[in-house]
Amino acid sequence: MAEPEQVDVVVVGLGVGGEEVAGRLAEAGLTVVGVERDLVGGECPYWGCVPSKMMIRAANALAEAHRVNELAGSAQVRPDWAPVAKRIRAEATDTWDDKAAVDRFTGKGGRFVRGSGRLDGPNRVRVGDQVFQARYGVVLGTGTRPSVPPIDGLADTPYWTNHQAVEVEELPASLVVLGGGAIGLELAQVFARFGVRVTVVEAADRVLAVEEPEASALAADALRADGVEIHTGVKAGRVSHDGSAFTVHADGAEFTGEKLLVVTGRKAHLEELGLDTVGVDAGQRYLPVDDRMHVTDGIWAVGDLTGEGAFTHIAMYQAGIVVADVLDHMRRTRGGPDASGTSSVVGGAAGVVSAVGGAMSAGGSTVAPGSVPVADYRALPRVTFTDPEVGVVGLTEQQARERGVNVQVGYADLTSSARGWIHKTGNAGFIKLIADADQGVLVGATSAGPAGGEVLSALVVAVHAAVPISQLRHMIYAYPTFHRAISDALRALK
Ligand SMILES: Cc1cc2nc3c(=O)[nH]c(=O)nc-3n(C[C@H](O)[C@H](O)[C@H](O)COP(=O)(O)OP(=O)(O)OC[C@H]3O[C@@H](n4cnc5c(N)ncnc54)[C@H](O)[C@@H]3O)c2cc1C
Repeated sequence: MAEPEQVDVVVVGLGVGGEEVAGRLAEAGLTVVGVERDLVGGECPYWGCVPSKMMIRAANALAEAHRVNELAGSAQVRPDWAPVAKRIRAEATDTWDDKAAVDRFTGKGGRFVRGSGRLDGPNRVRVGDQVFQARYGVVLGTGTRPSVPPIDGLADTPYWTNHQAVEVEELPASLVVLGGGAIGLELAQVFARFGVRVTVVEAADRVLAVEEPEASALAADALRADGVEIHTGVKAGRVSHDGSAFTVHADGAEFTGEKLLVVTGRKAHLEELGLDTVGVDAGQRYLPVDDRMHVTDGIWAVGDLTGEGAFTHIAMYQAGIVVADVLDHMRRTRGGPDASGTSSVVGGAAGVVSAVGGAMSAGGSTVAPGSVPVADYRALPRVTFTDPEVGVVGLTEQQARERGVNVQVGYADLTSSARGWIHKTGNAGFIKLIADADQGVLVGATSAGPAGGEVLSALVVAVHAAVPISQLRHMIYAYPTFHRAISDALRALK
């Protein structure tokens, strides 16, 4: 057996969260081994956020061009997928090559190891024949993979996940999308706008089931207007593939398509990580962490794996906390400088202090110099990038009621706002505010409409900083913006 090699920190999984932690700890002067079995950068740049938003940008350009006919003359639009596929290869993914990302990490002083990492006892990671013993700890950032439901016949078919949907060069004539969550709806709308006949099949009684019912209705109407067929409350019982087409058999109905895209959620694969060797239960859905991302002594986790929200901004936020906490742990272990970090530890105090400073701003909370920020998810934002966009922060009305909040709701329709009326075609949307009447603050909000995700930022500040509603009512909202509808919704709170 190979002799374990001593290093400071091992990061397993260099997706969004792991790469951020590993890079910043390496920049701070620690000896960091980063282990990645696929592509450094993870799901977001290669098969997630970035290419899907390039696809959406292109599809929205087509939709906007169609709106010329109502607003500005006439336009003939002929969709062509080739430039989209080319852009994804050339600009987003380097044709799924991570050389630039590996260089970015090693350029910061990190040591890169390609392979599958697995815990092998406390502070120890095995990658094939190599074994690393970490002085300060191990960070797990292994993310999630598509969760494919155990539907009869499905596993034997050549179904698509988000990977094939992003990699496609020739569009199919028709597509069945299994799952009406954010990813399913975004991709369904894109393909429909490029002329694919799309059918969405969702088991819940509405699409975007975790968000406000008004958001579900808005998104469903928008997709139907693009020609997407939507079937909700339908449980797929069996899937078959005859060599050229898929059939989804469900509750007496059948849905057929040349391709089948399965987007029914994501799953962490804890069983692969050797958690039993450190006394952690691998039979859980996600890896629970405390508010500084500790799993157990000497092990941190970051990103989708933690189940706190499958978003790049959550992985980055948590990464900031992990960096600060690892450095703090290192100082305490070494009996080095106090939390203000005034004397040299490893690689010079400047690196350490600046890394902690970065963590504080990434953490987003106001913290005393040297102290470690803790995670606070009250104002977690998320955006479904359909057209119209659905931006949400904090609690929905139902979640607030379930938590016993004394709820007030304020609603404003965007179409009857000044900007919505001017905008005309493509103006559907709304602002919905969820207030805690006892505290006099907002605890949640939805901003749906053109640029709904951008308008959301004001509401994120309001929820995050618990800005009193009385102050929000006395703010000046620029005329005629979409965000001005927030003041209408504030007036409607009851
Ligand atoms: C289609 C789609 C669109 C999305 N759009 C958005 C969006 O618009 N905005 C947003 O915020 N989020 C979006 N997301 C979610 C976002 O991609 C994830 O939240 C983010 O990638 C999570 O980062 P992570 O570091 O936790 O995990 P990942 O990015 O999944 O990275 C984990 C890495 O760990 C590696 N790994 C796993 N096990 C091992 C092992 N044992 N050893 C070595 N390496 C291992 C994997 O190969 C992978 O590279 C989207 C996701 C999808 C699928």
